[in-house]
Amino acid sequence: MKKIGVLTSGGDAPGMNAAIRAVVRKAIYHNIEVYGISRGYQGLIEGDIRKMEIGSVGDIIHRGGTMLRSARCLEFKTEEGQLKGIEQLKKHGIEGLVVIGGDGSYQGAQALTKRGYPCVGVPGTIDNDIPGTDFTIGFDTALNTVIDAIDKIRDTATSHERTYVVEVMGRNAGDIALWAGLAGGAETILCPEHQHDIDELTAKLKRGQERGKKHSIIIVAEGVGSAVDIAREIEQTTGFDTRLTVLGHVQRGGSPTANDRVLASRLGALAVELLMDGQGGRAVGIVANQLVNYDINETLVKNHTIDQKMYKLSEELSI
Ligand code: ADP
Repeated sequence: MKKIGVLTSGGDAPGMNAAIRAVVRKAIYHNIEVYGISRGYQGLIEGDIRKMEIGSVGDIIHRGGTMLRSARCLEFKTEEGQLKGIEQLKKHGIEGLVVIGGDGSYQGAQALTKRGYPCVGVPGTIDNDIPGTDFTIGFDTALNTVIDAIDKIRDTATSHERTYVVEVMGRNAGDIALWAGLAGGAETILCPEHQHDIDELTAKLKRGQERGKKHSIIIVAEGVGSAVDIAREIEQTTGFDTRLTVLGHVQRGGSPTANDRVLASRLGALAVELLMDGQGGRAVGIVANQLVNYDINETLVKNHTIDQKMYKLSEELSI
């Protein structure tokens, strides 16, 4: 391949810029022309494509968000949309594409590959919910943002002897909740992967109070249900002064952590290597600190699950 493209799609994640930088520099290092496609598949359909140079990706490694912008594009789910995208790729002579995004974006990459355009998926999402990789780009940064918030909430929770419900991102995946709960010393972690029992939760809080505990922190992934209702129920059942904090989109921004930058650099470069080798329909990832690549289809047919041993540990440590 002599010309490749790169785009970011779906929900943005800190470290996407570091991944773009790696793709661009790795390609140019190997004398491959690289084109940046703005606003994901929407920009692809519209032909929002420009050639990238070494300097195009200068001074972005430490920045959150994505310099290529991101978008959600319903039209790309249709055959018509995909054919429009292919027309644009052909127009620019682009032979392969690196797609940085989540599982939705991977479906677009898979669709293009099926139509004869080799694509490689790079996992960019704070949710850490892509099967086949231990970590996704952005997860570590989001986690650290959540921890920072929990630590601050803990200070005021202690001062005022309050119970805090903290809602974190994760519609279908409880990784942020689980890791943040474990790292932040939360009393209870509610993940979409586990049924929760509000009676058990309130009983645990009461047991804690009887032991002299003055405050509690409960982490709720957004996919579990209404955190407002959970906080209200806790307050009504226990009588504890209970407050809710919804962290929201702060979790998606910020300068990527060193871990995310390194991961993004490694995975972005690997994606280029695969395209250089003529391989499409692949996804890249990291398993036990080794880089891996596998059929992108696997990420679409398998379900992501949280680490059950870690969940059990979080329960054991928060008795
Ligand atoms: P994420 O990649 O973060 O999971 P989305 O699920 O919103 O985000 O997907 C991002 C974009 O990927 C969608 O807006 C759409 O353009 C494209 N996409 C999603 N599903 C498909 C599909 N089945 N076929 C083709 N493109 C898709």
